[in-house]
Amino acid sequence: MLEAPDGDLWVRDVKTGTKLPDSALQLGVYAEAIEQSYGIRPRWGDYFMCKNNAPTKPFELSGYTAARLGRWFARLDRAINAGVFIPNPGDACRVCSVSQYCDAVGSEWEAYGGSDFGA
Ligand code: SF4
Repeated sequence: MLEAPDGDLWVRDVKTGTKLPDSALQLGVYAEAIEQSYGIRPRWGDYFMCKNNAPTKPFELSGYTAARLGRWFARLDRAINAGVFIPNPGDACRVCSVSQYCDAVGSEWEAYGGSDFGA
């Protein structure tokens, strides 16, 4: 966490990979966690890209409220408990630890049941 010139707190996440994050969700979760832990809320955040030796543009984080994040994580929890895992093919597949069993790209997807699992 950093302090901006105007005194606001600033969340910074250091990235060693090359892919620019396309969402501020991770920063928003950090902002909410800091508020819940210390009672102070960072309003802004960015990712520091080591390969570029520079931060990304700043992201405004006030929209990542406890209520909103709580809804998203509650839905995620319900999906996991129901065995609903929807593939999201993309750059992450390259380093995915379960890609072998993934219904979208895996060679052994049938071992897990495929997309109609439980239907
Ligand atoms: S391999 Fe499948 S489970 Fe893994 S990141 Fe890609 S889409 Fe998601």
